[in-house]
Amino acid sequence: MSKHTPKVAYFCMEYALKSEIKTYAGGLGILAGDYIKGAKDHDYPVIGIGIKWKQGYSEQHIDKFGKPYDAYRNYSYDNLEDTGAVVYVKIRENNVGCKVWKVKELPLYLLDTDFSDNPDNWITGQLYGWFGEERIAQEMVLGIGGVRALNALGIKPDVYHFNEGHAFFAGMELLRELMEHGNCFDDALKKVRSKIVFTTHTPIVQGNESHPISRIIYMGANIGLSIEQLVQIGGSPFNMTVAALRISKKSNAVAELHKETANEMWKDYPNCSEIIGITNAIHIPTWVKSDMLKNVDNPSALWEAHLKHKESLIDFVQTRTGTLLNKNKLLIGFSRRAVAYKRSDLIFQDDAQLAPLLTEGKIQIIFSGKSHPLDDADYDMEIGAMLTSGSDVWLNNPRRPQEASGTSGMKAAMNGVLNCSILDGWWPEACDHGVNGWQFGEGKGLNDFSPEELDNHDRRALVEVLTKEVLPTYYNNNSKWIEMMQESIRSTKEDFAIRRMLEEYFEYLYKA
Ligand SMILES: *Cc1c(COP(=O)(O)O)cnc(C)c1O
Repeated sequence: MSKHTPKVAYFCMEYALKSEIKTYAGGLGILAGDYIKGAKDHDYPVIGIGIKWKQGYSEQHIDKFGKPYDAYRNYSYDNLEDTGAVVYVKIRENNVGCKVWKVKELPLYLLDTDFSDNPDNWITGQLYGWFGEERIAQEMVLGIGGVRALNALGIKPDVYHFNEGHAFFAGMELLRELMEHGNCFDDALKKVRSKIVFTTHTPIVQGNESHPISRIIYMGANIGLSIEQLVQIGGSPFNMTVAALRISKKSNAVAELHKETANEMWKDYPNCSEIIGITNAIHIPTWVKSDMLKNVDNPSALWEAHLKHKESLIDFVQTRTGTLLNKNKLLIGFSRRAVAYKRSDLIFQDDAQLAPLLTEGKIQIIFSGKSHPLDDADYDMEIGAMLTSGSDVWLNNPRRPQEASGTSGMKAAMNGVLNCSILDGWWPEACDHGVNGWQFGEGKGLNDFSPEELDNHDRRALVEVLTKEVLPTYYNNNSKWIEMMQESIRSTKEDFAIRRMLEEYFEYLYKA
């Protein structure tokens, strides 16, 4: 028996569990995977609900002419056990069966429509493969199928946690159950709301999914609700984030700064739950090298351990790309996911000052991500772990405030890889400039400047911090560098560990 209460069902479209099975697209899945692993480690009563994707998120490869193309692979799961449960969800006019699998070793159940005599057995085919009706079908499996799976397994959660709006239809199913037992819509909504909490992630309005009301009805996702009732919850078009904010008793954003951004974003929508800030965190055993934690008080052993991880990164890059990097030169890691707000080219826009340093090899940069890939790979879990443990510096230059949290920087910090970052996402909460890493840009963002002005401002600030602080410390003051590594580890290893996040979720979301 867990010493904690209440019992929580956590719904998420994606979980990153291990690198080979790429059933995740990015930060959302990484967070969900870390959360479920942490709940198990620390004995919190959380049960995860997700989907058993037949094919993961697209992997991008480069053809022999240098053009990128997307590839999808069928995954073979070797870590699942069949619970024997099958639940049904009526999607359009078909009763679609959802088999319920349990991930061995983790409190996580995955739904699966891929069996031969099942109508619409393609639904769990591809993570984020589609946007319209097909996406709704996938979300109906997760939400409606998820609640029915819990019933079939005899699990009675006290709290339902929707990680992103994808899980919203679970709320619809809970409403339906109550209305079937004689509650009117308003009473049912009130009761359902007392059991639901919601985490919002994306700080960009267009990134929040919405659908025409007619599509929701055509798919059967309204399960009995009228148009007026649907509009009351999600508006028209039906916005999944707004709906989740209105069907929950409490919501959270994923960092303190993101809390401000999210409240500003949704301030004109009445009847939404309060959005508090609970900063994301990471599962230390997955991401942090144990010798970095163990040697934190021993400067020379810490430096040796770091060099060992830097060498394995250099080997890894050589194997994948044929390029040999120099162990004695500053190595900057950067995850270049193909989203504009990350501004992966910022550092290359300054020819005058940085180009000579790059040519001389005083600065070496490893980029990883779609379109300019490390050989044929995306930024996946393996590359993420290599880069955030083997680089000297972790560079992050989003257009503030569009990075909701940025957990890669936490992985780096705990591995003694010094963050050099815009004050966005989690970094304003941790940064002690010149002590445990560096900030640049002084917290200026899109609220202060036009995008173009901001890019110019931040580029100058980046050049300044690199040439005046990062490089001189690295090349001329090794003991100061090691002190900063120690501070980086010490100042983050508790505050940004998944255990702190679990504690706060229970305290401020679930029990509240
Ligand atoms: C940690 C991690 C993330 C988190 O997102 P960032 O925006 O990079 O902080 C995304 N993808 C992978 C593969 C990761 O390991």
